[in-house]
Amino acid sequence: MADNTVKIDALDTTEPFDVCIIGSGPTGTIIGKTLVENGIRTVILEAGSSMFNWLTDSQIKQYADFESTGNTNYPEKHTKASLLGGTANFWTGRCERLHPSDMEPHAYTPPENPWPITYDDLDPYYEKAERIMRVRGNSQRSKYSPPRKTPLPLPQTKDISFLTELLDSIGVEVDDSPTAIPQKSIRFFKVQKEILPGFAASPNLTLVTGAIVRRLVSNADKNIVGAEVQSFEGEKKVVRARIYVLAAGGIGAPRLLLMSKSEHHPEGIGNTYDRVGRGFNEHPAVNFYAQIPHQRKTIYPLSKIARTHQFYSTYREEGLGSIMPVFRQSWILPHHNMPLKISKIPHNMLAIAQRLLHATLYMGVVIEMKISDSNRVTLSTKKKDPFGDPLARVHMDYADEDIALLERSRELVRDLYAKVGAGNIYEDQITFSRHLQGTCRMGTDPKTSVVDPDLRAHESPNLYISGSEAFVTGGAMQPTLTIAALASRLSEHLVTRFKEGSVPPAG
Ligand SMILES: Cc1cc2nc3c(=O)[nH]c(=O)nc-3n(C[C@H](O)[C@H](O)[C@H](O)COP(=O)(O)OP(=O)(O)OC[C@H]3O[C@@H](n4cnc5c(N)ncnc54)[C@H](O)[C@@H]3O)c2cc1C
Repeated sequence: MADNTVKIDALDTTEPFDVCIIGSGPTGTIIGKTLVENGIRTVILEAGSSMFNWLTDSQIKQYADFESTGNTNYPEKHTKASLLGGTANFWTGRCERLHPSDMEPHAYTPPENPWPITYDDLDPYYEKAERIMRVRGNSQRSKYSPPRKTPLPLPQTKDISFLTELLDSIGVEVDDSPTAIPQKSIRFFKVQKEILPGFAASPNLTLVTGAIVRRLVSNADKNIVGAEVQSFEGEKKVVRARIYVLAAGGIGAPRLLLMSKSEHHPEGIGNTYDRVGRGFNEHPAVNFYAQIPHQRKTIYPLSKIARTHQFYSTYREEGLGSIMPVFRQSWILPHHNMPLKISKIPHNMLAIAQRLLHATLYMGVVIEMKISDSNRVTLSTKKKDPFGDPLARVHMDYADEDIALLERSRELVRDLYAKVGAGNIYEDQITFSRHLQGTCRMGTDPKTSVVDPDLRAHESPNLYISGSEAFVTGGAMQPTLTIAALASRLSEHLVTRFKEGSVPPAG
């Protein structure tokens, strides 16, 4: 944990801060870094604290819980976390850009709420985000990949030549999977280890862990005038700032807005037009395993990942979403018979022997979901956090288009397997990527979106909301690089506002 972390009892709330950031995941950390480095007095309020605390304290686990309903059976476990560094403590570091076509009108764009920014607007911030996240990958990317003007910051080191050659032989061009590479963490890039130490010691930063923001308080002008904070030990404070940035994740952000009902915001903050929480979308994936004959390059027991952007927009012509096929070559991936059951041991032993004789080729397809107003985050009437406040309820059904796109993806996988001569094909369960998108959409119309193109809440001039909750559509790419790009763009906007003196004093 960063050295200068304080608990809320040590928090001095007499002087208002310039900026109060709620959440210390990639969004909050990246925004905090730029603000602090530009002399802006910033407080980051994080509900959780250390990994140890996350693993041992039932209260924080309860706080991070939510209720799930709908025919997707969306998993409540391992979806979001509350600790320093956010849910990204558990991410795998894959860092892809959205495609330019994602931000142009397509079959899933809500007609009344198109993306208010373009890929070109985001391009310089993608470059910045890739540097901040130390993204590694081959700079000679296929012609189907999102365009880029500069090489990736770190060169490719993974050898995916087996997959490249195999799939090239059937006319499919693949790329490696750009990945954030840690310098200070063991396996995955963690923002609290890689980014936070660079500004943690600054006198401009106050980082408070174990600080749960229970309500945002607003005045008659709908400005935010305070964040009510409480610890599980019962300590209470009201943090005041000139600007508030909600960086609480795609479920945490709408929950806090909905919980902050008052006479000035009877439906919750930013929710006059009932938009907060609507449009939740994720990345479901179909998953297949099959066997192929060993070749020289499959002998190594390594798991190598490649993806193809070639089919990204193929099904958009049919009115469906984008897709991202993923390939992995290995012969030690547990599958077919896992989880291991005692009764299946003989069968498993046989399968293990078979795996030595054949290489495994995984193919999965991640799909974009149709945006639906009824897929939404609201407040649960069943589940409560340790304070007795309602937890979030996430309702998500598959649209007909989602079912159709999952089926198209299965057909595509089976076709590719047939072309490479794979046998013994096994379809595993649908999985979700834990990408929490779309619940506080950006747009130009307050009636159809929650934040404006600068990520400023339409209704509350001193409140910004940043993260994948601001995405208008979800594409089929992992969101965190776009989250980091939006965070970089927002922090630049805030620095400009402070420098030009356009930020009013705290209310
Ligand atoms: C298993 C797994 C694998 C993943 N792999 C990838 C991947 O490879 N690539 C990718 O792009 N994405 C991946 N993701 C998703 C990625 O983790 C998220 O996109 C990312 O963490 C979002 O960052 P964030 O800062 O917006 O939110 P978070 O990381 O969720 O951080 C939000 C923080 O806000 C805090 N908070 C919330 N409400 C309050 C409150 N009221 N008061 C105080 N604090 C509050 C929370 O405690 C939390 O720490 C993965 C996720 C999981 C679970």
